[in-house]
Amino acid sequence: MAGVQLDGIVKAYGAVQVVHGVDLEIADKEFVVLVGPSGCGKSTTLRMIAGLEEISGGTLTIDDRVVNRVAPKDRDVAMVFQNYALYPHLNVADNIAFGLRIRKESKDVIASSVDEVAAILGLTPYLERRPADLSGGQRQRVAMGRAIVRRPKVFLFDEPLSNLDAKLRTQMRAEIKRLHKRLGATSIYVTHDQVEAMTLADRIVVMHDGRIEQIGTPMELFLNPANAFVAGFLGAPPMNQIKARVGRGDTGPVAEIDGQHLPLPALDALRNAEGREIIVGIRPEYALVADEGTSGRIDCRLDLVETLGSEALLHMTLGEHPFVIRTETLGRLSALDAASGFTVRPDLIRIFDAGTGAALAGQERAA
Ligand code: ADP
Ligand code: MG
Repeated sequence: MAGVQLDGIVKAYGAVQVVHGVDLEIADKEFVVLVGPSGCGKSTTLRMIAGLEEISGGTLTIDDRVVNRVAPKDRDVAMVFQNYALYPHLNVADNIAFGLRIRKESKDVIASSVDEVAAILGLTPYLERRPADLSGGQRQRVAMGRAIVRRPKVFLFDEPLSNLDAKLRTQMRAEIKRLHKRLGATSIYVTHDQVEAMTLADRIVVMHDGRIEQIGTPMELFLNPANAFVAGFLGAPPMNQIKARVGRGDTGPVAEIDGQHLPLPALDALRNAEGREIIVGIRPEYALVADEGTSGRIDCRLDLVETLGSEALLHMTLGEHPFVIRTETLGRLSALDAASGFTVRPDLIRIFDAGTGAALAGQERAA
């Protein structure tokens, strides 16, 4: 097993640069997830690590060896793709064994490795079947088996669950997590799905337009997003973000929104900051439906209630801004239909500079 280090990694296609100097240090046995919107450079970065794309600039180190010019097969990495990339004419056992045959392992070693991996992945009953006769989830397991059986230094995953239906995706997500606990292998996992990132990662790397926005544990990023982009990307539904100006309230700073005053935390950065343009960030979970007359309440208008079962999403309008509240339903669904305002604890509000999007200093919270 091994660590992976990216120093100033750049990718350009001709004159167009798509990855702009990525610095990232991944520890031995760590599970790191690269997450970001489509086109932000996740796959390109992963494929440069795999050796499937040439590196245009910077240094890539795997297990203390610079591998920029090392062929993919000699990097000792194994990649699992979204489309499985199985050999259709080979059965499950032969698909799993493929890499070992190339390496000219003995028949006995191949047979026992395939048996062991098939048992880990629950594929033992299907060893004779061809990929066409398997479900999507089983195919993805074969693809993982083919990677595991080689005992690579590093596992690379590119959206491995995106072709599966929602239920299977959740199930396979848990399996991948269990597998990582069991094998303890260094893993780099690419996804556009923030739930996969939150649930799988030891550390998440949020990417945007070919750059890293922030690196941290899932809870660090959820609680202390460095900027409005990260705040809007992690969490579902996303954090409400409302442009406002800082005003002076009776007891401290407020945000002036739609002619109303929302009490803000007493940050140093908000002292004597009247008129400063900010983005007020409020997670849908932290806004509490409040009756008229409640102190600190912000009035808004209810557009729609989406009932999810134990919870509901209230789609409100605040001035001209959409604003979503996530709340429990038990015994209060009819009351929610009459919701017309909310309160939020000032220390749960996140405040960003309206120009740069950077989080103002002094808001960091511990999990
Ligand atoms: P992601 O995996 O995050 O969705 P990619 O890494 O696939 O994004 O792509 C990053 C950017 O690189 C995109 O803008 C994409 O259009 C561009 N790109 C990818 N492959 C090529 C290529 N062969 N030639 C030119 N541009 C490419
Ligand atoms: Mg991709």
